[in-house]
Amino acid sequence: MISWIVGLVMTAQVLATGVHTGIQYISSLPPLPNQSAIVCHDSAWEQQTLVSYNTVKTHAKLKPFLEKMVADSRAEGVYITFTSGYRTCGEQASLRAYACGTGEYNMNIKPIKDCHPPTEPAGKSLHNEGLAVDLACAGYSLFESSPCYRWIKTNHLRYALLEHELEPWHWSTTGK
Ligand SMILES: [Zn+2]
Repeated sequence: MISWIVGLVMTAQVLATGVHTGIQYISSLPPLPNQSAIVCHDSAWEQQTLVSYNTVKTHAKLKPFLEKMVADSRAEGVYITFTSGYRTCGEQASLRAYACGTGEYNMNIKPIKDCHPPTEPAGKSLHNEGLAVDLACAGYSLFESSPCYRWIKTNHLRYALLEHELEPWHWSTTGK
């Protein structure tokens, strides 16, 4: 809780002052949905809200932050790539079944720490809002031991991204 409030305040300050240069095209922060309020969206919502970026789809309000993150990190010789962005609830359910098992308990109730890898139920993931991305680092098989991970740990507040406590590759607007 504290960490995302701090993150939000710091991000707002950075955006207000533009201290990190060249981000005046970012006009508003991306949403911070309460995880319990996330729902499955239909194709009309997807068309209104999502845009393509890099190899993924993402919320239109998150895209400028991702673009800036990639540009800034590449300028420092760090090559962040994306392995996942927006997911439909059908896609989330497939991943949940793979990570947690099938049946009502495994699909909807089992804590994510007991799933491998940790995976939220369909309709409860920030991926289902287009507000989470899974990251990789070109040339490194393990993100958490890559220079990309060290870079984003240092710089993430500029891009409205917070790290998930169980998944070092997963960054979202709330950290969930
Ligand atoms: Zn993820």
